[in-house]
Amino acid sequence: MIKQALISVSDKTGVLDFAKALAGLGVNILSTGGTAKLLQENGVQVTEVADYTGFPEMLDGRVKTLHPKVHGGILARRDLPEHVAKLDEHGIPQIDMVVVNLYPFQQTVAKDECSLEDAIENIDIGGPTMLRSAAKNHRDVVVIVDPSDYGVVLAEMKGTGTTAGPVSYETKFRLAKKVFAHTAQYDGAITNYLTSLGEDRAHATRSSYPQTLNMSFEKVQDMRYGENPHQGAAFYRDLVAIPGALANYRQLQGKELSYNNIADADAAWECVKSLGGLGQPAGCVIVKHANPCGVAIGVDALDAYTRALQTDPTSAFGGIIAFNVEVDGRAAEALAKLFVEVLIAPGFTDEARQIMSAKQNVRLLEIPLGEGQNAFDLKRVGGGVLVQAPDAKNVGLGELRVVSKKQPTQQQLQDLMFAWRVAKFVKSNAIVFCGNGMTLGVGAGQMSRIDSARIASIKAQNAGLSLSGSAVASDAFFPFRDGLDVVVDAGATCVIHPGGSMRDQEVIDAADERGVVMLYTGTRHFRH
Ligand code: 5GP
Repeated sequence: MIKQALISVSDKTGVLDFAKALAGLGVNILSTGGTAKLLQENGVQVTEVADYTGFPEMLDGRVKTLHPKVHGGILARRDLPEHVAKLDEHGIPQIDMVVVNLYPFQQTVAKDECSLEDAIENIDIGGPTMLRSAAKNHRDVVVIVDPSDYGVVLAEMKGTGTTAGPVSYETKFRLAKKVFAHTAQYDGAITNYLTSLGEDRAHATRSSYPQTLNMSFEKVQDMRYGENPHQGAAFYRDLVAIPGALANYRQLQGKELSYNNIADADAAWECVKSLGGLGQPAGCVIVKHANPCGVAIGVDALDAYTRALQTDPTSAFGGIIAFNVEVDGRAAEALAKLFVEVLIAPGFTDEARQIMSAKQNVRLLEIPLGEGQNAFDLKRVGGGVLVQAPDAKNVGLGELRVVSKKQPTQQQLQDLMFAWRVAKFVKSNAIVFCGNGMTLGVGAGQMSRIDSARIASIKAQNAGLSLSGSAVASDAFFPFRDGLDVVVDAGATCVIHPGGSMRDQEVIDAADERGVVMLYTGTRHFRH
């Protein structure tokens, strides 16, 4: 039976309705300063914790609920007569429910002007203590840290009529686990902040990389296996959703996603999202083994897909295909003819859904477009982790520098920009031939740039595509002129790359000698 609840929340979302409902079920409510005020002003009868314990809130709120009458009431085991007798001896009533969410530490330190003092005052002490007490004693106490759980708990309590019924053990255990995940993440955020302060602590100048890195993720799903069948695996997502990120997917149909599906889907989705602003409304990316094997922009989804498929129809078999526009019936009809593992788009029309429903093995993922970025990019190495900022750079037209004698035409500029966007998503060494808003040949993941160049042109030949007059992007500089000679021999008339080699002059001279256009981006896009 839930007779008494303690409510102390910083995020007051939904708390009034919840408290009203609890009071309606005959639950006695204890509350702290700000929360008590809100509830009382809205007609909910509450007892202030200060009146309950006989101690006022003190030290600017640092001590509000840290009292045996509170913690004894939460922590006592109801199944041990000694515990129950101890409570009686000291006149401590039981507290059966704890509803607490914490001072907004992360939001506070995210502000540029946050001082060390502000941060410290936003470290909640009594809140985590109550949460942990209640979560430890979850067999007897319901603990709620997330306002989105108010409804579930109420529904269970109301299940038995007008008085407060019990909450199931399963729910109490789930809520307790949520609490420890939450407090661990909260302490992790405090550690990250404090250990990222510069030498001059007074000014709290921050380097973004803390001395001790704590990150918390929540599991989305277990997987049958990892990259290979003998490896176990699971997928986790950030606790705070990143707008536009893959992890926001909604699976509309199809088999369970595999480890490789998710890795490839991410590559396809990130690449297709970068195809905006290139002069065509729709973009399509086909990925195989983490590399784009066909990318195109077009007037609509069908046009972009048809062109992307032309680059390498052989590799596209069993691929992962992503769009940056809604997939309509016409595109779906064309897609249904290919063996596809995963289809990703911000939306699918009813007609497209209908057509794809005949291919139940195809996994359909709907992901809202958005502009978010991961805070950190992580790569595990033996016994450690490499952390960097994600490669969020998108070179603008204004940053390009023409280094050849020959100037680019408008069309060449457009093709080079497109090629450059794609090259960013191809494993190094990356060489990408493009023309007219589509890839013509992609050379990926070779240990030498010249081999990537050769492979890209062979692939174009195999697909029956002409490279005559094509544009080429290279993710890093040409260390020698030989790579340039290969792409020009294959038919390229303009080339984009970062520049910055010791032999830049040799490569520029080669471009002039061969009469091709060469642009520097000043930015490199290694991808490993
Ligand atoms: P209120 O707005 O009700 O005055 O305060 C609610 C907040 O106070 C909650 O976020 C809760 O975690 C926090 N809190 C409750 N008891 C204590 C305490 O004893 N010390 C500190 N520092 N915070 C507390």
